[in-house]
Amino acid sequence: MTASKPASPSAASDRPRPKDWILGIKAYVPGKSTGADGRPLIKLSANENPLGTSPLAQEARHHAGDQARYPDPDSTALRVALGKLHDLPAERIVMGTGSDELLHLAVQAYAGPGDEVLYVRYGFAVYDIAARRCGATPVVAPDRDYGTDVDALLAAVTPATRVVFLANPNNPTGSYIGREEVARLHAGLRPDILLVIDQAYAEYVAAEDDDGAFALAARAHNVLVTRTFSKIYGLAGERVGWATGDADVIDMLNRIRGPFNLSLSAQATALAALADQDFVRHSREHNRAERTRFVAAIEALGNHGLRPLPSQANFVLIEFRGALTAEAAYLGLMEYGYITRWLPGQGLPQALRITIGTAEQMNAIAAALTTLAGAAA
Ligand SMILES: *Cc1c(COP(=O)(O)O)cnc(C)c1O
Repeated sequence: MTASKPASPSAASDRPRPKDWILGIKAYVPGKSTGADGRPLIKLSANENPLGTSPLAQEARHHAGDQARYPDPDSTALRVALGKLHDLPAERIVMGTGSDELLHLAVQAYAGPGDEVLYVRYGFAVYDIAARRCGATPVVAPDRDYGTDVDALLAAVTPATRVVFLANPNNPTGSYIGREEVARLHAGLRPDILLVIDQAYAEYVAAEDDDGAFALAARAHNVLVTRTFSKIYGLAGERVGWATGDADVIDMLNRIRGPFNLSLSAQATALAALADQDFVRHSREHNRAERTRFVAAIEALGNHGLRPLPSQANFVLIEFRGALTAEAAYLGLMEYGYITRWLPGQGLPQALRITIGTAEQMNAIAAALTTLAGAAA
C-alpha cells in the first residue's frame, strides 16, 4: 500500500504558491503518435477505434447547428437517447467533457484533504491525479497477477476512505471482474463510500459477461458508473463521457460540472453515433476477432518470455520476461513504424500495452515481435 507524500512546496514568497497537493501531481502522459525524431507512426498507443467512427456521426458533425450560440447546457437530447438505449432514467444521467471530467468531479464532490481514494495497483492513471488535485490521498491496494483483487481492496479500506475506483475492464491491464465480484466489492464497502465503476471499455465486453454495474447504480445510493464515447464509438476527439448513479450523486456532479461542458458538435456527433449501433456491434466483433488472433500469436512467443494478459478490452498488455525486454520491443516496434505504450511511469517497465488495430496492423506487430524476440535470443 502506498500513500506517497506530496513534494515540498516552493518556498519562494515572490510568486503564487501552489497547494502542496497540487505540487505532488505528475501530469498524465497521453499515448504518443510520433517517434523521437518527430516522424508520424501508426498509433496503437491510445486505445482509439481503428475503424474510426460511424459515418452518421461524421455527417452529423457538419450539421451541428449555429456555432454562435451556446449549446444545450444539459445535453438533453443525448441523455434521453442514452436513457432509451440503456433503459435508464435520463434525469439520472450526467454528461462530462470526456468521462475524465466525471472521474475528477466524483472525487471533488466526496473527498478532500485527509480523505483517501482507493483503487488497485495498475489502476487507470487518472485516479491518482483525481485524488491529489482535491488534496485527498491516493491509496493503492495490491493487484492479483495484474488484476483486481476484491479482498485486497476491501482490506485497504480505512475510516478515511471516501471513494473507491474500479475500472472494469481496467486500463492498462485489460483485466475484468464479473458480476459476483463487483457485487461482493460493493457489499463490503461502507454505504458512505462512493464506488465509481469506470466502464470506458464496457461495450467491448460480451453482453453475457455484464458486470451488473448499471443495475447496482440504479438501486444503490453510493454507486456511480462512468462511460465514454472515446473508445468503441470512436469519438475521442469530441470529448464526450457520461455517468449514471444515485439521483443525489448525479445532482452533486451537475452542480460542479462545466455549465456548457459538451460543445454543440460534441452533442450532435455523439447523438448520431449512438443511433448507429451497427457500427458499435461491428467494432466489438472486429475487436474480439483481432484480439483473439493477436493473443494467440503472442502466446506462441511464450518460449521467448512474452505473456499476453487476459483482456476484455480493445488492447492487450504483454509482459516481457525473456531476452527481449518491453523497452527493446517498444523501440523495435517504432522502427517498424508502430507506436505502442510502454509504461515504466505506471510501475510497468516489464510490459507493453498494444491497442487492437486493423488485421493488417496486428499481423505486422505479431511478425515484428517474432523477429525481435528471435533476434534477442
Ligand atoms: C480512456 C479511458 C477513460 C476515458 O476517457 P475520456 O476520453 O475522458 O472519456 C476513462 N477510463 C479509462 C479506464 C480509460 O481507459
